[in-house]
Amino acid sequence: MSLDSFSLKGKVAIVTGCDAGLGQAMTVALARAGCNIVGVSRRTPDETQALVESAGRRFEAVKADLSTIEPIPFIVDEALRAFGHIDVLINNAGIIRRENALEFSEQDWDDVLDVNLKSVFFLSQAVARHCVAEQRGGKIINIASMLSFQGGIRVPSYTAAKSGLMGLTKALANEWAPHGINVNAIAPGYMATNNTAALRADKQRNADILARIPAGRWGRADDLAGPVVFLASSASDYMHGCTLAVDGGWLAR
Ligand code: NAD
Repeated sequence: MSLDSFSLKGKVAIVTGCDAGLGQAMTVALARAGCNIVGVSRRTPDETQALVESAGRRFEAVKADLSTIEPIPFIVDEALRAFGHIDVLINNAGIIRRENALEFSEQDWDDVLDVNLKSVFFLSQAVARHCVAEQRGGKIINIASMLSFQGGIRVPSYTAAKSGLMGLTKALANEWAPHGINVNAIAPGYMATNNTAALRADKQRNADILARIPAGRWGRADDLAGPVVFLASSASDYMHGCTLAVDGGWLAR
């Protein structure tokens, strides 16, 4: 095996939620490994675009709100217009709502399920249809969570969505592996981003979480760089339906 199998030179990746946190770090990692990027976000991703371009790659910004599936055909059309093909899809955009299960609202249920699960399925379907039609294979990487494995506290819709996402990763892998499409997921542990700001601000929760992480620190967005490049590359061609935990050892405890 040569290290070339990790190269993404000439590949095209769509990354949702590319403007912040884990999405930005994964976008930059893919670009440094050779990918051109279709960056999907609700706001203009100037900083991410500059980082990708300084890595010598092209960046196409697509403004889209994935709280509905309406923009999905537009995202795929824009990617094909800009680059002619799609090799990689990173389903990263996600939201979280915190409330006791007894008080949890229908709105907080639907909002989270819509972005974190429904749009992921229909964007994956749209990209897979392209990959199957072009017979060029592809890589779909879903961003799961520790709450794909565990129940969590006060986040019932998030846990339902992320547990569903791990199941969906396996379901789609089963159907699309024969077409040369690898569907896998990355389950980040407790990472220091906007998504976890409330946890880190709570002294007790922060201490409890840190005490359980064998690596002894919160994850950094950049900790996903190696795993995402690996799963996007031909080095992982025989991996299907896997959810790779990148968690400082959290699940091992
Ligand atoms: P973040 O809040 O910094 O980023 C979330 C991204 O999703 C942003 O780019 C945001 O604009 C985008 N997004 C949200 N709603 C959207 C919508 N309706 N349409 C389009 N884009 C939308 O948080 P993050 O930690 O970087 O989260 C990225 C992913 O990683 C999420 O799926 C999250 O659930 C997951 N995750 C995070 C952690 C963590 O500890 N931070 C752990 C496990 C999983």
